[in-house]
Amino acid sequence: MKISVIGCGYLGAVHAATLASMGHTVVGVDVDPGKVQHLAGGVAPFHEPGLDELLRDGRASGRLRFSTNPADARDAQVHFLCVGTPQGKTSDAADLTYLVSATQALLPHLAAGAVVVGKSTVPVGTVEMLRGELATRPDVLLGWNPEFLRQGTAVKDSLVPDRLVYGVEGGRPAAFHPATGAALGVTAALDAVYGPLLAAGIPRLVCSFATAELIKSAANAYLATKVSFINAVAGLCDAAGADVTELSEAMGLDPRIGSRYLHAGLGFGGGCLPKDIRSFRAQAATLGISAVEDWMGLVDAVNVGQRMRTVGLAAQLCGGSVAGRAVTVLGAAFKPDTDDIRDSPALDVADRLAAAGAHVTVTDPKAVNNAWLRHPGLRFESSTQKALQDAELVLLLTEWDEYRHLCPATAGQLVRRRVVLDARNVLDAAAWQEEGWVVRGLGTAATS
Ligand code: NAD
Repeated sequence: MKISVIGCGYLGAVHAATLASMGHTVVGVDVDPGKVQHLAGGVAPFHEPGLDELLRDGRASGRLRFSTNPADARDAQVHFLCVGTPQGKTSDAADLTYLVSATQALLPHLAAGAVVVGKSTVPVGTVEMLRGELATRPDVLLGWNPEFLRQGTAVKDSLVPDRLVYGVEGGRPAAFHPATGAALGVTAALDAVYGPLLAAGIPRLVCSFATAELIKSAANAYLATKVSFINAVAGLCDAAGADVTELSEAMGLDPRIGSRYLHAGLGFGGGCLPKDIRSFRAQAATLGISAVEDWMGLVDAVNVGQRMRTVGLAAQLCGGSVAGRAVTVLGAAFKPDTDDIRDSPALDVADRLAAAGAHVTVTDPKAVNNAWLRHPGLRFESSTQKALQDAELVLLLTEWDEYRHLCPATAGQLVRRRVVLDARNVLDAAAWQEEGWVVRGLGTAATS
């Protein structure tokens, strides 16, 4: 099929490249010429495992190209909207201006009977609003296909997703072909796009626009709830002299609970979860569902509270204040395997420590370049060894594998004081303690 992907950031670039790898002819359109230049050259403008290879393959096959001109999308039968929906500047609600302007830019180039499908995460009611933007084109079909990929495993998540969700008019495939029984309309178009995935048995759910919009928001709200739940319990563990890592392991072995997203630590960040739970909260407030509104408020407060707690523990480990102390922060990305620093808990903590007078050095395997552009008050170092030199306190804030497996003996020879605050609870505390380190985690006071 001929497909366009409008917005080629973390979501759109991966979507475009994976669609091309499935045999479609894809044009990716983005307003950022720098991004387009990178992508067109077969190089991802950000770190995402496996993406460079897909981009190179797509380029070599002639099926994948990128452009800044929405007119280059004119031949496409299906257009995917993948632009950002960030938190608004003055409220918790999502800012939909990028979606509106992308739709307006695409409108004059839509072929007769084209299908426009949104993938961005949006509040309920967005599709109805966009339908208004397309009012002059009743021939154009509209659908919503929320995306669940995770940065760091985005390529795999796109090629082997847990499920496909189609939001369509009326909540059901419009009709079935009388002879073949095949779905028609938006469902048929998306089935054709995702043919290889459906053939591999990936489940596909067809539902109304409102349900599709809420599925994505509710899924993220649930994940955030799980993280904040165990982080709130971590506080309880510290107060009671219990160990949250042992507690969560035991809880997670119950298949009704499961161990994923049940790991206590510094909490979540990034370009999605924080803004998505705030948007969900704003939607609940608008719809008058106070239980969801209050719930999301608490989940957010617990999450942000973990950052304050980490800063407080750092001061405690420095004898009451970090002022004048050399502090090394391991990690700048909001999570491992990405160079994305949007709402990074690690950088938030680093900034707060610097504001409290610490001399902060931050290191990260991939995100140093992105971070120093946005955080000029911090010192950055690409080499872990150099970053650890003469540290009086080490904080592990992003759980990259190379920090999990750091040798405590080698690190001990570099620092001035062997004190580590493992805010992701991933270090082998006993091994570090054997090398003379004071080790502190979040919710692990009993074993520190
Ligand atoms: P992003 O900021 O990385 O990418 C958005 C891109 O859209 C940018 O490259 C921007 O230049 C481009 N853009 C803005 N206006 C445009 C226009 N008018 N025409 C063409 N391009 C335009 O954001 P992202 O992380 O890729 O997220 C995009 C959407 O996908 C959001 O709604 C997000 O919540 C959702 N989502 C993201 C992820 C993820 O892991 N990043 C996962 C699932 C869903």
